Amino acid sequence: MKISHASVLAAFFSGLCAVTGTVGASAAEDKTSSTGFFLDTVVTITLYGDTDSTAMDGCFSLLEEYEQMLSRTIEGSDVWNINQSEGKATVVSDETADLIETALEYSRLTDGAFDITITPLVDLWNIEGKSSLLADGDAEEALQEDTADVLIPTDEEIASALSHVDYTVVSVEGTTVTLSDPDAEIDLGGIAKGYIADRLKEYLLSQGIESALINLGGNVQTIGTKPDGSKWKIGIQEPFGGSSDIIAAVACAGASVVTSGTYERYFELDGTIYHHILDPATGYPADNGLTSVTILSESSVVCDALSTACFVLGLRDGSELIETLDNVEALFITEDETLYRTSGFPE
Ligand code: ADP
Ligand code: MG
Repeated sequence: MKISHASVLAAFFSGLCAVTGTVGASAAEDKTSSTGFFLDTVVTITLYGDTDSTAMDGCFSLLEEYEQMLSRTIEGSDVWNINQSEGKATVVSDETADLIETALEYSRLTDGAFDITITPLVDLWNIEGKSSLLADGDAEEALQEDTADVLIPTDEEIASALSHVDYTVVSVEGTTVTLSDPDAEIDLGGIAKGYIADRLKEYLLSQGIESALINLGGNVQTIGTKPDGSKWKIGIQEPFGGSSDIIAAVACAGASVVTSGTYERYFELDGTIYHHILDPATGYPADNGLTSVTILSESSVVCDALSTACFVLGLRDGSELIETLDNVEALFITEDETLYRTSGFPE
């Protein structure tokens, strides 16, 4: 029995790396970059041009604020309050209500492939916890005997968790959120980074910033072009490669590029990868021959929701859906490392 793990820390640097290429010497001097850790993710913000610290400080205050609002594990956050409500109505911030409504819109569009009530399954699989556990050699050895029993939930456990996964139990009226199933819980992990990236962009534009890169753990949003007027080149990581192994690069200006991949958070057992993108139809990690899906669009929240959803939908249904949407493009990578682009995805 062969088991291995993904380093969770390495996952923070995986997905997309912003490859800014070479910029002119003077432009490079006019660059400010700051890194922090929010919502389980390494965040890097890079501002170009002549700026004082106000805009950068403002971004990090916003990140702090959104983490306190949207984290599932911070006591008293909006999401925490909703999950503790046991079916009672919960009043949340405008932003949380707005984000949940957007999430529901993408659940409807994808026929439930994207579903924020996935929480009981996320907890049951605990991919991240098991990945860290397996990173500890002693624990791995101790597991030898009954590894499969310990790592893979039983059919009964999956059925029981699945019975509380249903986005139609979530209702939003104004800023009041109600879960009609008292045992349902929401998890915005598949969409929050995109939403926050859009809010940071809005804020930076209001501060007069004309050129910037916002990178929330590989969820990239851009403002304008590089200072020399050329497009940003956002690198897409080779699945299971090192974080600097780039399989393709997407040129964009003022747009967002977001990737969902199996290699970000997973463990492996007997040659099967068990990863963090779960199929609400089966209760198992989505298993359809894909290793990553990248979405390109102006809106990062759209990219984030659709990258997760298309990963679940698979190459055929996912690309069919993307072709029906204006100004959204996708790149699918399959297990044999073949790249499939929708009609408008840049070569
Ligand atoms: P990452 O967080 O690595 O960028 P994604 O945006 O694809 O990746 O989101 C994956 C996260 O979303 C999971 O860790 C889990 O919290 C949640 N999730 C898993 N499956 C689904 C799903 N089918 N619909 C909505 N959210 C999901
Ligand atoms: Mg996502």
